[in-house]
Amino acid sequence: MLVKNYKGILEELILYNPFDDIFVITSKFGRRWGKRHNGFDIVPKNRSRITIRSVGWSIIDHINYQGFGAGNFVVFKSLYYPGVELKFFHLKNPPIHKVGWETKGKEYFGVMGNTGASMGAHLHLEIWVDGKPINPELVKWI
Ligand SMILES: [Zn+2]
Repeated sequence: MLVKNYKGILEELILYNPFDDIFVITSKFGRRWGKRHNGFDIVPKNRSRITIRSVGWSIIDHINYQGFGAGNFVVFKSLYYPGVELKFFHLKNPPIHKVGWETKGKEYFGVMGNTGASMGAHLHLEIWVDGKPINPELVKWI
């Protein structure tokens, strides 16, 4: 059960940074070009490090490809935070693990890419709580 403060902001969600590096936000959560941007776009500050790691105890729920959208993408369901889903878009290749793979922590599964509707290599990361996208900037990244 996630605790929300009086403004409805999640106070408890703590996730691992998906890069082995500090990241820069290149596009924020919210409305963009008349559409909702359900996540944020990030790139590692030191661009030589482009591997993506899982962000906590979770299981791969879904893997697919969308040529005009998410590109190679993977959806994790958090096991530590029931009701939380993590979606990683535009991976260079399909993830190296299959549906059902369970991570205990910060484990490598793919490489940042530019597949689907993407202009330049970046990671689009969405966090859904109980079926609704939340602003990833509200999460504590460690
Ligand atoms: Zn994006």
